[in-house]
Amino acid sequence: MRTRQRNSEHPARHIPQRTCLACREVKAKQELIRLVHIPDGGVEIDTNGKKAGRGAYLCRARECWENGFKGNRLERTLRTALTPDNREQLIKFSKDFFKEQPSDK
Ligand SMILES: [Zn+2]
Repeated sequence: MRTRQRNSEHPARHIPQRTCLACREVKAKQELIRLVHIPDGGVEIDTNGKKAGRGAYLCRARECWENGFKGNRLERTLRTALTPDNREQLIKFSKDFFKEQPSDK
């Protein structure tokens, strides 16, 4: 039986995976939401995953967003400082985003 395992870093189906910055879970990239540090300094939500810049990822889970914005986890991951306005903007996005989803109790 011939096996080709020289390139074991690339699984056959090649699903890109990323780590959620809040819970540290590794998930398929499309299950996460990308945040990108844009060149002029702010941090934006990158819903298409196509913006250029240093990226960080969060699960589509309210809890991870709340934890992600606590302290300076996001800043550390993106190696940037968030302005209070910028942070506010991101939190607002997450609130709108999760409003449409049923909250678990
Ligand atoms: Zn997470």
